[in-house]
Amino acid sequence: MDPTTFAVDIDGTLCTQTEGDYERAVPDEGAIALVNRLFDEGDRIVVYTSRYMGRAAGDPAAAERLGGDFTRRQLDGWGVRYHELRFGKPRFALLIDDRTPFFRRDWGRIYELCRAARSTTPGVAAPFATSDEPPTAAVVADGPPDELVERVLRGNLALARHGLVILSEGNVSGIAPDRRTVAIKPSGVPYDQLAATDVAVLDLDGRQLAGPHRPSVDAPTHLVLYRSFPSVGAVVHTHSPHATVFAQRRQPIPCLGTTHADHFAGPIPVARELLSGHLSRERYGERVGESIAEALSPEVPAVLVPGHGPFVVGRTVEEAVENAVVLEKVAFLALHTGPAATPLSDELREFHYARRHGPEKWYGQK
Ligand SMILES: [Zn+2]
Repeated sequence: MDPTTFAVDIDGTLCTQTEGDYERAVPDEGAIALVNRLFDEGDRIVVYTSRYMGRAAGDPAAAERLGGDFTRRQLDGWGVRYHELRFGKPRFALLIDDRTPFFRRDWGRIYELCRAARSTTPGVAAPFATSDEPPTAAVVADGPPDELVERVLRGNLALARHGLVILSEGNVSGIAPDRRTVAIKPSGVPYDQLAATDVAVLDLDGRQLAGPHRPSVDAPTHLVLYRSFPSVGAVVHTHSPHATVFAQRRQPIPCLGTTHADHFAGPIPVARELLSGHLSRERYGERVGESIAEALSPEVPAVLVPGHGPFVVGRTVEEAVENAVVLEKVAFLALHTGPAATPLSDELREFHYARRHGPEKWYGQK
């Protein structure tokens, strides 16, 4: 197996933060022991730093000329074993950095997370990629997950519990109230192994802020929906069987009964097909998101992506999951009701939708 690359920050992580007076930095024995252990076990260690980057006007090569020799001598003096020292910001690596959220300096716990990341985060071996591909750096963070992460975890587990997904397919994300961070299921982690510490946290541009694994490959699609609709608080994607049948037939799900009208004000639309020119690795997820955004409305918070499956939204994680559960049920009912069925009358459809969602809704408890 290829070695896993860990990119380890210097100031604040391997040693104390000195605000530029690097000679005064005091090494952290626990951090250095962890790094040396990873090194000895065959991982690739890249030590990275933003030292001298200000004085070098952001040019990593100039920062290296200013401070490379001093920093290498300092690391050697502290007994740090590593493969490479790099100036600047890494991408495409697992980061160990004190400035990431949920970081507590529990080096034993961080070692366990690093071990887990070895098997589940292949392909992050080039820590300082220079292409303009979106960043995929992941973070080893040992702190307590916040409320959003917990809710997103519970939402993802609910998909499996309701039978909407198998193995690792599908994903739930949620956005923080300040709309600056999004928590989402990590890529390829099966639901029966998913824990809060696995959940990936991103900013709205897709940069990863926390989580040891890469985010779901559908993250760019989710982010488009958050950027497009300030009212969307959560996004759910599944391959739930009956809704996916309609997606594969490229047929909207007609509103045939009150189960449908209670939750969705009309038929579930199918997004437009993507043209072959949209199938680039970098932009595919965003293009899918744009096609969903065109078809999505507040009254019908679900869209079928043709040939793929449903994307469902809600104001909260719980509401989006509920919408996804109901969507699967109405798809089942519509499929078995058959193509000859008459749609619900406009009057009855509007009455049922208004009962739960209208300005004077009267369903449920006051
Ligand atoms: Zn999918």
